[in-house]
Amino acid sequence: MSERAWLGADAASPAVDALTLIAEGVTRVAGFRVATVGLVRGNELETVAVAGDDEARSALLGARTPLDSILAELELAEHWGPLRFVPHESLPVDLQVWGWVPDLLPLEGPDAWHPMDALCAPLHSGSGEMLGMLSMDLPDDGRRPGPEAQRVLAAYADQATRAALLALEREQLAEQVRLASAARQIVRDAPAQLGVEEVLAASADALMQGFRAVGAWLQIFADDGLGTGRLVAADGTQVALPGRLVRTAERSARASWAAQRVDVVSREHLQAPALSARETSEIVDFLDEIRVGSLLFVPIGAAHEALGNLVLTRLAGAPGWTAAEREAALDIGHDLGRVVLNARSFEREHRMVEELRALDSYKGRLIATVSHELKNPLTAIVGHLEILQDEPTDPAVSASVDAIDRGARRLARVADDLLLLAKVGDPDHPVVPRPVDLADVVADVLALQEHSLTRKGIEVVVEKPEEPVVAMAEAEEIERLVTNLVSNAGKYTPSGGRVTVCLAVEGDEAVLECTDTGLGISAEDQEQLFQEFFRSTNPLALAQPGTGLGLSIVHRIVSRHGGRTEVESRLGEGSTFRVRLPVAG
Ligand code: ADP
Repeated sequence: MSERAWLGADAASPAVDALTLIAEGVTRVAGFRVATVGLVRGNELETVAVAGDDEARSALLGARTPLDSILAELELAEHWGPLRFVPHESLPVDLQVWGWVPDLLPLEGPDAWHPMDALCAPLHSGSGEMLGMLSMDLPDDGRRPGPEAQRVLAAYADQATRAALLALEREQLAEQVRLASAARQIVRDAPAQLGVEEVLAASADALMQGFRAVGAWLQIFADDGLGTGRLVAADGTQVALPGRLVRTAERSARASWAAQRVDVVSREHLQAPALSARETSEIVDFLDEIRVGSLLFVPIGAAHEALGNLVLTRLAGAPGWTAAEREAALDIGHDLGRVVLNARSFEREHRMVEELRALDSYKGRLIATVSHELKNPLTAIVGHLEILQDEPTDPAVSASVDAIDRGARRLARVADDLLLLAKVGDPDHPVVPRPVDLADVVADVLALQEHSLTRKGIEVVVEKPEEPVVAMAEAEEIERLVTNLVSNAGKYTPSGGRVTVCLAVEGDEAVLECTDTGLGISAEDQEQLFQEFFRSTNPLALAQPGTGLGLSIVHRIVSRHGGRTEVESRLGEGSTFRVRLPVAG
């Protein structure tokens, strides 16, 4: 039986026009009052072209006959070449009459045409599939056709076969376009930033429309069990799928995916390879219960992994699932598989970001606590060291006291930096920006540092415009930022060098630049410069004391102000650090 597309008669189609011309030729040239062409649609034959009077046309056009009864009758036919003739006398008395029985009084004689006689030519594709049928009735002369008429009819049957093929191919093409666009829609409706749940919601409607289904069940397996399922009915009815059937679906999805197969289940179609007889009858009972006629079971997966299943349903009496639809459904199983993998990796990334965030916040709290706990005893140590340093003692003891003092002060600086790092990295304490005149901040910082810079033989230059450069910022943090940049410039610039601090307004940004003629930084080191605890790989730079926290503090301060940090540097030539902050006003 044909599995061809079913789309309903398309009276306007050129192929149907051609079939009508052929039927008319049969009436005119071969001398019959009525001729019809029917096309196979699922398990029925639909009459799409009729030549004859109005009565015949209105009785026959669009009529549908179960293929089974046609095939049963053809069993009784005499073969006249490609023609099949079923004489009324060979029909069983109880035969269910199909088609149209004209009101006609038969002539006398053995070759007289009887109203119950049937003459037709089944139309077959090259591969032997039945596509349709050319039928004729009521010969003009009231007689069964002789050899000449049979030859003419055979030629028409040949033409009709070609036109029927064309009509069906056209329909199939239209159907493929429809299904392909349904599939594309799914992929379109499922952008990468969706979780599995949203993908299900976005796909179900498109699938039902594309496949002309009344309902859809879409289930995506989870690593730890059956996962998420969603049942949707076109009319909005809420249907709960029994757990047993969900498990059956899960199991058979794995088998169907492995076999790359979709299955149809209905009262008429009780054999699905992946299902036992008991499972099939449970499913069919459930379909009866929700008044659904048939289902198309589609596995969803990617590569070797079955990821879920899609079930589409149609009402009883609706056309069956065509071969093209089943093929497209399997493709959609693949498309959905990809969409599910995307959704999963999105969810995984999302989870990872959350975990990293939690880890970061834990790290922040840990640093804050540890540095706080270090600060108190360090303050005590430094205080007592000052008392000891004031006391006259043995030179060896005082050298030790001085060494302890240097160590303690260094430790105190690290604790300070850590505390600040935790503070400027804490999202729960955002900046409270106020207008800050950057020239004032630079002047304050240089007032503290200029002395040691000039003592080292470093020239300090400030370049600023006439008008003030005012940033929206937290003054204390900006002061720390400038301190770190200027002290780095001094630290990593040998004597005889120069440090230039430059201020400017560029568009809506207040720009502060600190340039030195020092050691410079290699391109590789520049990549990691703002990471906590990063210290240069350059031995000359490493010879200077440092914690590797100064620039990460700078970077965090700038980021939390909504600004940007830039660095330009060449090893052996010098560096420029530039920060851009939102300008005030
Ligand atoms: P620290 O100076 O305490 O090591 P920073 O975070 O301030 O830590 O700087 C990280 C690294 O970047 C330093 O170890 C140094 O190698 C390099 N660096 C920073 N500023 C300069 C500069 N102006 N010139 C050359 N190298 C620099």
